[in-house]
Amino acid sequence: MKNSRTLIVGNWKMNLNVQQASLLLHRLHERIRIRREIELVLAPSMLALQPLSLQIDRRKFRLAAQNAYFVDEGAFTGEVSFAMLQDLVHYVIVGHSDRRHKFGENLETVRDKVSAAIRNDISPILCVGETQTERRQKETKQVLHDQVTTALSNLASSDISKVVIAYEPVWALSSGTDYLHHEIPTPDIIADAIKAIRHHVYELYGKKAATEMRVLYGGSTNASTARGLLETEGVDGLLVGGASLNYQEFSGIIDAAYRMQTASESA
Ligand code: PEP
Repeated sequence: MKNSRTLIVGNWKMNLNVQQASLLLHRLHERIRIRREIELVLAPSMLALQPLSLQIDRRKFRLAAQNAYFVDEGAFTGEVSFAMLQDLVHYVIVGHSDRRHKFGENLETVRDKVSAAIRNDISPILCVGETQTERRQKETKQVLHDQVTTALSNLASSDISKVVIAYEPVWALSSGTDYLHHEIPTPDIIADAIKAIRHHVYELYGKKAATEMRVLYGGSTNASTARGLLETEGVDGLLVGGASLNYQEFSGIIDAAYRMQTASESA
């Protein structure tokens, strides 16, 4: 059965030292109530994961890593493996456009990371999405096809329900601070892309997997756009970057998700 809770993930990217991360968690904790309708996930830096795991109220939040390496252990200087994160996090973000475009991760690297996450009992949040140039050249469908099918190609069908996909058009991502004014896609663009994503899941794993797959939207979300984005066809939650670093903005997004959930329950 489809998980009907709205999934909201805050990707703090390479921001906040441990002290600042702890303060932001404290502020969010004060501001946010436990809501059974919403699953809240925070993705701080690798360095802050351990201290935050001791501070966090697990009834309110879960933790995610922003990245990990696909081999479990060995001579890979500077890397942290999924195996090492197993007891710390529920989720790992995989294939974020920062990783694909700034660190050269290709389709196969992302596929190996998705497999490593599953092997270590962590749910991957697989990010997919086209660049501005790819959209202009009408390559969006092909990009989504290649990213989704390659990333999921090594999974057993019993594993597919653990995967979350985030549609993040690269052209809609904020610089980290301009999320209030950045261009966001129309509902039609998001709904079309998510339909294509579910279609690729359907081709690989069938109807149940495609329908039940949780698909998020990510790209310049803020408290005033959250509700409309969440109401877009096919959207099960949001992956939030810049706005997740501001506790008022992020809690505004969570309030919007809660209002939408309760309105749809009473309708
Ligand atoms: C992201 O980088 O995953 C993201 C969604 O960022 P922003 O909300 O700042 O566009």
